[in-house]
Amino acid sequence: MTSKLHYFSVLVIDANNATRFAASDSLKDAGFDTIEAKNAKQAFMYFNQLQPDIVVMDMDLPDMNGIELCAEIRKNPRNRLIPIMMMTDKNDVESIIRAYDAGATDFIDKPLNHLVLEQRTRYLLRSNQVFRALEHKERMLEQAERIAQLGSWEWDSRNNQLSVSKEYNRILGFAEDHRPTVKEVLYSVPEIERKKLLKHFNQRDPQGQQSVTLQHRLTNDAGVIRILRHEAKIQQINDVDYTIYGTIHDITEEVAHKEQILQLAYYDSLTGIPNRTFFKTHLEKAIKTARRRGRGLAVLVLDLDLFKRINNSLGHEAGDELLKKVSNRLLQCFPDTSCTKLNMSAIDPQAPEETMTNKIARLEGDQFAVLINRFDALDEIILLAQRIFKQLTSSFTLHGNNVVLTASAGIALYPVNGQGAEMLLRNADAALHFAKSQGRNNFHFYSSDIDFKSKERLSIESDLRHAIRHNELELHYQPKVHLKSRSVHTVEALVRWNHPIRGMVSPAQFVPMAEEIGLVHEMGAWLIREACYQAKTWNQKGIAPIRIAINLSPIQIRAGRLVSDIGAALKEFAIAPSQLEVEITETVLLEDSDRVMRTLEGISSLGVKVALDDFGTGYSSLSYLTRFPFNTLKIDRSFVTESVNQGHAAAIVHTIIQLCKNLNLEVVAEGVETEQELKFLMDHRCDLIQGFYFSPALDPRGFELFMQQKPWIDLLEDL
Ligand code: C2E
Ligand code: CA
Ligand code: CA
Repeated sequence: MTSKLHYFSVLVIDANNATRFAASDSLKDAGFDTIEAKNAKQAFMYFNQLQPDIVVMDMDLPDMNGIELCAEIRKNPRNRLIPIMMMTDKNDVESIIRAYDAGATDFIDKPLNHLVLEQRTRYLLRSNQVFRALEHKERMLEQAERIAQLGSWEWDSRNNQLSVSKEYNRILGFAEDHRPTVKEVLYSVPEIERKKLLKHFNQRDPQGQQSVTLQHRLTNDAGVIRILRHEAKIQQINDVDYTIYGTIHDITEEVAHKEQILQLAYYDSLTGIPNRTFFKTHLEKAIKTARRRGRGLAVLVLDLDLFKRINNSLGHEAGDELLKKVSNRLLQCFPDTSCTKLNMSAIDPQAPEETMTNKIARLEGDQFAVLINRFDALDEIILLAQRIFKQLTSSFTLHGNNVVLTASAGIALYPVNGQGAEMLLRNADAALHFAKSQGRNNFHFYSSDIDFKSKERLSIESDLRHAIRHNELELHYQPKVHLKSRSVHTVEALVRWNHPIRGMVSPAQFVPMAEEIGLVHEMGAWLIREACYQAKTWNQKGIAPIRIAINLSPIQIRAGRLVSDIGAALKEFAIAPSQLEVEITETVLLEDSDRVMRTLEGISSLGVKVALDDFGTGYSSLSYLTRFPFNTLKIDRSFVTESVNQGHAAAIVHTIIQLCKNLNLEVVAEGVETEQELKFLMDHRCDLIQGFYFSPALDPRGFELFMQQKPWIDLLEDL
């Protein structure tokens, strides 16, 4: 006896009781569970409740034809795989065909041979198991393909048939069960890539297997471009025939992410042009090529002059806007620059050399770099630099403001100024700093001399730090002669640095240096106290109360402590606030004017006087004169010098003096060196005269002598 198979249940449907019992009994004997139904209605009920593993049914049922019942069962997709065996009359061929069409799995002749029934049932169940397992595997594969976004296909040369997986269809935008033709698929690939693909498939090795890996684009059925990684194996069947098995992997997102990462790593997010990293990589490649070809190249590093000032006065948004505009103007200088488009081969140092032209980049802040890759003579570089300067110096409109820029640049040449990217950039930078120190708005080629100067600068910087911290600076005082009273009661304090080795270093040189290295606050605080101390000393010595004017650097004014520093010094040395004056330049007023206004008002409300220095050289907006609390205005030396020529300058000086009278401001002429200048100023009723004609700045002892000897009296007498 066969072992009992509890887990398989057979639904036996037959209206004839005898046949049904017999079939059921024999199946039970064979080890199956059985359920019996005598009509279609009952069969349906059991079918739904008990879910048999297999159905054996008679063709003729009282309430429904067996074929119809079969079709009914198959209607439910869940029942798709359940084997249905029909009991038929051997001769009824037509019914057999119809039953197959309705979804019957197999047939058994009536009258039943019970042994055959048993064996066939077993066989159907077993093959059903195998079938189900296969289906399960296919589903798993489908799912795996879906998760991996991996579609598969197969093509046979013998029949030119293409079969594809569901995921393949999904990637190509087709319906799941679509059967694409070879042509349909090939024509969704752009022409150039299609040709490549075909070339790969056609170059077969007749001996055996061959693999193809290719990345290409494809326009899917919805018209969307996807990027695919395509792998295929070509398998020869015989000398002529072959099969290709392939997979496609949709890597569109992966590529997009990669590009995003590259974009972040190699491009400046503000301007969209390459950043320092990209520039360096590119420069290194360019150097390699230049070396191989025995050619030269040049690196130009460019820095906007006074960009910080624009940033502070118009705001960071405007600053950002300006940087974008600058990079656009640079791009305009190089119409052949291919730097806005991401190009992987440009980044990959291993990639073959491309047709490299000039490249621009933003190195940091307001610093840009240009790689000049093709030139035959230095003149060409000079012309190019001039072109850049011309582009940058025509005015920009920023949030309704007209802004005029200047820039400085340094140029280093390969191979003479450096063999590597790092060195070239460093030397271009040194040349840039040199250009700046030479008064900005120009460019310089690197030379070893500059290198020396920049080293020297470093050493001066460290000496200056030392000098400020160890009280090695001095204040000298330049008298201002009051014409009407023929007396001296005001001086300008000018800082002096007597360097132990270098001798006198000009404040025009070291004050900006102190600003740059962040020492101007310390220096300023010292200066305020020193001036107050001096005023007190002279008070005590009985020298007529002297008003001391100190110069304030823009950076000092921006820092918040200025007013309290001044207040504290006045208190400490017990001098009248009116004995102190501050001189500021117009450029300060361009900056964050609310803040400057608050500071100046703070100083003014202490009782300290405020003077506007170098008037006429900057923007000379008359509105400043009324908006800010000035007491004094100083006419710049350049106008004083020019005034004697009776031209423009004379008219300006005259106008400034008149303006001051009208606005009730004290007016000082700076840099008066000659009798002629003095006369002119006297004629125009200038209040105060400062300049070498009367005296340079003197140390305290020198000034005391000056006050004793009163040389100005004689000098005025002679006129
Ligand atoms: P400034 O404030 O315009 O100072 C006037 C400059 O002109 C001084 O140069 C002075 O010595 C010079 N000078 C005076 N009379 C004549 C003249 O008749 N002819 C000529 N050719 N020059 C004359 P100095 O002392 O070299 O200062 C240069 C600049 O350095 C100053 O220009 C000022 O901007 C800055 N500075 C000087 N001392 C200080 C300071 O204590 N603090 C700050 N923040 N800046 C200072
Ligand atoms: Ca001054
Ligand atoms: Ca001045």
